[in-house]
Amino acid sequence: MKTIIANWKMNVGVREAVALARGTLLTLRGRKVSPAMVICPPSTALSEVRKVLARSSANLGAQNMFWEQSGSFTGETSPRVLNELGVSHVILGHSERRGLLGETDEMVNKKVLQALEQKLTPIICIGETSEQRKDDQTQNVVRDQLMAALNGVRLRSSDILMVAYEPIWAIGSGDAANVAGVLDTHQFIRSLLEEVFPQSSKSQFHVLYGGSVNADNAYSFLREDDVDGVLVGGASVKINQFKGIVQAAAEVLVAKQEE
Ligand code: PEP
Repeated sequence: MKTIIANWKMNVGVREAVALARGTLLTLRGRKVSPAMVICPPSTALSEVRKVLARSSANLGAQNMFWEQSGSFTGETSPRVLNELGVSHVILGHSERRGLLGETDEMVNKKVLQALEQKLTPIICIGETSEQRKDDQTQNVVRDQLMAALNGVRLRSSDILMVAYEPIWAIGSGDAANVAGVLDTHQFIRSLLEEVFPQSSKSQFHVLYGGSVNADNAYSFLREDDVDGVLVGGASVKINQFKGIVQAAAEVLVAKQEE
């Protein structure tokens, strides 16, 4: 299976989110084979987007959550509320939150533990800066972030762990990573996951790529077995671009069925 995650960030209001959700669902219509889809609107639009997604195959995702169920945490969103709103997935540790809002590895770890506890599928974002890439530090950075995020995690056989490899320099830059580099890093991430969770099935680990994915380059990532899907930011709010990405995933799935 291939999964497409749409991260709408803070780019839409509630009414726009409803319209975009309708348009996004249309990209799946009439297809014999479709990718799995996770739509992550701003938290303020979750409730309305949920209504649009009802009875569709698309999943509702959140862009963040807090690590406690309730309490004096002004402005935060509790996993309990996400559950009430029908959210199944949650993006954690996005580089924008790490970079702009001071989210640390320890905070990401607490969120991952809480998400799994609440039966939400965590989408853990990791990736290096351009400096770190130039210094050949990609694997070290990715390892440190992933190990920290997974500290103390016990995976049940029903849990899915999603890891989005998102090089920071590729996010929103129009400069996607090259496929060979992505595959190296994905294989490295998979080997770490297998090391940390030797008892788990490999099918519980989904490793996705994110960073300037668009209708033109999506196929080149999605056709790779080591890429379980893509996390899409900018192109997920441009419906023609997003349609092209869904089309690319569908073509890959059809080709794999024919193999
Ligand atoms: C993202 O924000 O996670 C992302 C991948 O953004 P973009 O697709 O715009 O690079």
